[in-house]
Amino acid sequence: MERIVLLGPPGSGKGTQAELLCKRENFIHLSTGDLLRGEITGKTEFGRMVKEYIDNGLLVPDDKITDYVLNYLSKNDLYKKRVIFDGFPRRIFQSEALINSMKENASNLECAVLIELDDKTVIDRLSNRLVYSKCKKIFPGTYEEDNCSDCHQKLIKRTDDNTDVIKKRIEVYKAETEELIGYFEKKSMLKRIDGMGTSEEVFERIKKVLNEYV
Ligand code: AMP
Repeated sequence: MERIVLLGPPGSGKGTQAELLCKRENFIHLSTGDLLRGEITGKTEFGRMVKEYIDNGLLVPDDKITDYVLNYLSKNDLYKKRVIFDGFPRRIFQSEALINSMKENASNLECAVLIELDDKTVIDRLSNRLVYSKCKKIFPGTYEEDNCSDCHQKLIKRTDDNTDVIKKRIEVYKAETEELIGYFEKKSMLKRIDGMGTSEEVFERIKKVLNEYV
């Protein structure tokens, strides 16, 4: 399994799983959210354009984000590498463009891995979690280490990790991913993973699915 899309609600451990897949399975994590934030920080022309959308909670127009990602793939020679797509594709237009571009480059997108978690668990996890203010590493609310050994900052609660905002984020996630899930399902590309349990347990489930493709 070489190229996959990673889907999952907030709190499903998508970030942790992407990190484990990169560390242990040699994947490259392509997160459009991170790339766009980098463009904004770097004050590039593209960054200035996307900032408008991001600041207003809107999606960047399909053609602009798609051109950007496909260009990024070819510039960094990623068509033949192991890549986890995170945050892209977000719509059918983007998915079709990605799949077609993969084919044109003698590559392919193998599947979409969906980490599933029920709403109650999402709310419980997010309302109890803490993050280090600088490196953004996440821990359950019971974690006792006060200062991070990497960034030396304190554990804090994210301002958007309160119940009302969490419920809104779940709604937005569902509205956004529903058609994408249906799309990948129709193409028999969707792999559902149970997101309950420890990150190691979830990781083993993902690995099992990935191994089916070897
Ligand atoms: P994320 O960190 O994935 O939630 O992305 C942060 C913001 O970047 C989103 O709210 C969008 O404004 C923008 N963005 C990231 N990926 C995409 C995409 N595939 N399509 C459109 N906008 C995107």
